[in-house]
Amino acid sequence: MAHVISSDCVACGSCISECPVEAIAEGDIYVIDAETCIDCGACVDCCPADAISAQ
Ligand code: SF4
Repeated sequence: MAHVISSDCVACGSCISECPVEAIAEGDIYVIDAETCIDCGACVDCCPADAISAQ
């Protein structure tokens, strides 16, 4: 399982530094690499657009 970033992402960059395993990549909409994500949830609360959720 992995967390995912929805289309609500505003590409603010807030989540990048929160991830302990550097699973989040920049883009027009940021993307979490499901293979790398350890499902810790550290990125969820920092998102101002509430775009990150568990799957
Ligand atoms: Fe990184 Fe944890 Fe968010 Fe997965 S849930 S992307 S490991 S901060």
